[in-house]
Amino acid sequence: MNILLATSNSHKLEEVQAILGLQGIQVVGLNETERLLDEPVEDADTFAGNARLKAVGYAKYTGKRCMADDSGLVVDALNGEPGIYSARYAGVGTTRKERDAANNTLLLEKLSKTIEKESAARFICALCVADPDGTIVAESEGSFEGLITKTPRGVNGFGYDPLLFLPDVGLTSAELSEEAKNARSHRSVALRKILPLLQ
Ligand code: IMP
Repeated sequence: MNILLATSNSHKLEEVQAILGLQGIQVVGLNETERLLDEPVEDADTFAGNARLKAVGYAKYTGKRCMADDSGLVVDALNGEPGIYSARYAGVGTTRKERDAANNTLLLEKLSKTIEKESAARFICALCVADPDGTIVAESEGSFEGLITKTPRGVNGFGYDPLLFLPDVGLTSAELSEEAKNARSHRSVALRKILPLLQ
């Protein structure tokens, strides 16, 4: 099976390629022309809704069956923030690295104003596969539980990985090896659920 993952996030593409590669499934990203297409506007109010918008939008643009991912971090002490706004939480920075750093700083700033010492939090990943005629072929969701640490650690992964502490291993998500993150991440849980629906 070949899957086209419609994303401009190279980290997501690498993670999905590594996870599905182990199952013998080849995942391709958008080609040069497809990458220049305007990204569908993510104006749904759930991860699943935004994954649907992206999958259907890209399937229609490209004329190919597309898988899309919408993901983010949900922090209990912040009433679920940044949630679906995870990627654009601080709203600044031109590169993904700059945006990630600004988002992490803002999250810790907001958290320092709460009474919680550590807050339970989780990454959520919603996946959707759609056909060019707009039909939704399959959907799934996965989560990855931890605690937000006030001292970011680790250089692996992306986004909020340095802030999600995993008490069972005593490491943040950014300190996990690629294999260890892929074995338990929200994205791998969602992928494992959606695969049987596609086969
Ligand atoms: P999306 O591209 O609109 O789905 O936004 C996803 C955002 O959620 C990313 O920019 C990150 O800030 C955050 N995020 C999603 N998955 C992860 C992950 O595996 N690690 C760290 N941050 C993540």
